[in-house]
Amino acid sequence: MEISAKQLELVRKSIKAAMAKNGNLYQKKLAGFDPDDLKTAEDFKKLPFTEKSELREGYPLGIQAVPDEEVVRIHSSSGTTGTPIIIPYTKQDVDDWAMMFARCYRLAGITNKDRIHITPGYGLWTAGIGFQLGCELLGAMAIPMGPGNTDKQLKMMVDLESTVLCATSSYALLLAEEIERRGIRDQIKLRKGVIGSERWGDKMRARIANELGVELYDIYGLTEIYGPGIGINCEKEEHMHYWDDFIYLEIIDPKTGENVPDGKIGEIVITTLRKQGAPLIRYRTHDLCFIVPEPCSCGCEFPRIGRIIGRSDDMVKVKGVNIYPGQVEDVLRNVKGVSSEYQVMIDHLNGRDIMTLFFEMEAGADKDAVELAVADEFKTKVGLKIVPKGVAIGDLPRSEKKSTRIFDNRF
Ligand code: ZN
Repeated sequence: MEISAKQLELVRKSIKAAMAKNGNLYQKKLAGFDPDDLKTAEDFKKLPFTEKSELREGYPLGIQAVPDEEVVRIHSSSGTTGTPIIIPYTKQDVDDWAMMFARCYRLAGITNKDRIHITPGYGLWTAGIGFQLGCELLGAMAIPMGPGNTDKQLKMMVDLESTVLCATSSYALLLAEEIERRGIRDQIKLRKGVIGSERWGDKMRARIANELGVELYDIYGLTEIYGPGIGINCEKEEHMHYWDDFIYLEIIDPKTGENVPDGKIGEIVITTLRKQGAPLIRYRTHDLCFIVPEPCSCGCEFPRIGRIIGRSDDMVKVKGVNIYPGQVEDVLRNVKGVSSEYQVMIDHLNGRDIMTLFFEMEAGADKDAVELAVADEFKTKVGLKIVPKGVAIGDLPRSEKKSTRIFDNRF
């Protein structure tokens, strides 16, 4: 979907504001570029991407594009991979976000008569507070639970007759199972679930929907771009509408950086159009998805993307630890006697996640010693206990793609 003249005008404005702020990322990144030269969709495609690592390097406030007195709040992405990213918001950013979120609720058929049970966490990250802002703007009753304490969650859900559950997919499933186990399904008044959009399987979706007796909605967003609430699916179809008056969304081939045709899978790249505190230009989300070219049967004219398919960098989470193919390679590279080929199997057995790392060993290597060394190195570097399995060279299947080396068998 080509960028429109109106959107281009907003991008020019954003770039000007960012470049005018001393120390802003784009002042350095786009030095020598005149935003007034940004006239066509082709010009836009020549703008460089913005990577998460650049935001991290700008810690703490290197992406702030307004004077301090205009910043009313910050949020932060979780720092599980190192330095966190701080996103400053102006009053207008906060209001815009609430408006987008209220739109999401409306599109999902949620009204001011609903009672919205909010389980995502409140605090530095954007989840809970976003669900709350949108709910208040809509005029519905917010029940600001935050995560944890299942007994209390269920008591409030029953006593207050919550009609909408906002949760991550895993927490929604946990609550669904608990309701089933306690046999209190007939006391639950939920009719809809708004689930933070991550990759979750159809099996899990069906279980949550059936056990809770609700319609499920995928809400999309990321901390760097407001937070959740920049898109959601409607009552008619599973694809998500997104708000193209606030963001311009492209799908690129993650390897070449070129735009892919509508309908083809690639990585979502987002440019903010009205964000003041921290405008972002061509921000790589690493979320894999596709643009849905056909108009939606619901009549809403906002464009659509599909469900999130996964991460372009294929991260997996095991026991709360993020695992990337690159990390595994780093570990293996450091152990003597290990060859380059590997395969990771992640399974869920007896209530525990188990990661088995198969790797090829050089001829003549001492299997027991090498396995021990790999396990130690992994524990030290990544912080996770694994099951090491050394095999002979040629035993593992060959693949061009990193992503096919990690097999998550948990769902
Ligand atoms: Zn629709």
